[in-house]
Amino acid sequence: MKALVKQHAEPGLWLLDVPEPEAGPGDVLIKVARTGICGTDLHIRSWDGWAQQAVGTPLILGHEFVGEVAGVGADVADIAVGDLVSGEGHLVCGKCRNCLAGRRHLCRSTVGLGVGRDGAFAEYVVLPASNVWVHRTKVDLDVAAIFDPFGNAVHTALSFPLVGEDVLITGAGPIGIMAAAVAKHAGARNVVITDVSPYRLDLARKAGATLALNVAESGIAEAQRSLGLKEGFDIGLEMSGRPEAMRDMVDNMTHGGRIAMLGLPAEEFAVDWAKIVTSMITVKGIYGREMFETWYAMTVLLEGGLDLSPVITGKYAYQDFDAAFDEAAGGHCGKIILDWTA
Ligand SMILES: [Zn+2]
Ligand SMILES: [Zn+2]
Repeated sequence: MKALVKQHAEPGLWLLDVPEPEAGPGDVLIKVARTGICGTDLHIRSWDGWAQQAVGTPLILGHEFVGEVAGVGADVADIAVGDLVSGEGHLVCGKCRNCLAGRRHLCRSTVGLGVGRDGAFAEYVVLPASNVWVHRTKVDLDVAAIFDPFGNAVHTALSFPLVGEDVLITGAGPIGIMAAAVAKHAGARNVVITDVSPYRLDLARKAGATLALNVAESGIAEAQRSLGLKEGFDIGLEMSGRPEAMRDMVDNMTHGGRIAMLGLPAEEFAVDWAKIVTSMITVKGIYGREMFETWYAMTVLLEGGLDLSPVITGKYAYQDFDAAFDEAAGGHCGKIILDWTA
């Protein structure tokens, strides 16, 4: 089969013929239809410092996908050939305290699909049945392909109750934009999203943000005034991993405000801890999706009319992966989809 492989420990990706993966007794074999390109894949392609320590070669990339079940192992029940499925890309150990308690998203030994083991940028991928999500309601294929990052957005946005609340989102990448759509759909009053990319701020407006603010031009305090907020934001969703965004957020929260932080900082940085203490702010780290509460929520949100179409801005046949990755790396885009059926 064809697969997109990190073949050598150097920048680049290689489209190669590799053996089809084999499904064990508890596994599901999936014929991949579409995949989403993630920041993680860009890191692995460019072979930056993170990728060099996290990835061993050769490795098939990719964790955002939708496909059709092509085979199931002898021990698999409730999943059948022909089912439309996506996959939870975090494979958990099943043995640690949190796994045993059913809190699998808190597993201390998570292995990432397309990072720690072969992924979904291929004609076929194999996953344990416990990681497979069957789409039992009608879903757009491109949207189904990005359930993984959509799940990051939903997990972060729904970390704290937000009905009637004023929400600040720092970072208008695809996940920030989806989080804005989710927050608005779920009943937030004002959803303010910040970035420095006019293109991405425009996507955020289309996705339903109340105010998409270019922080290179004006400050968040000014935005608060223009919306008539007097005491600051109730909920913060940090999506950028950037020190200045986190500091801005802390400065603009109400007393007792709650921050869910998904953006992964590249290195340590200082924040005003005295302000966090005296403003009694809660900061919660978010990684991945709750299995499978977040997946359930995603399905229900889409059924309820949540529209993610503004965030999907490009589609390529897998053979054109280089152009697709170039566009994704350029940042003048939302989510980029690779089609594996062409
Ligand atoms: Zn991803
Ligand atoms: Zn575990």
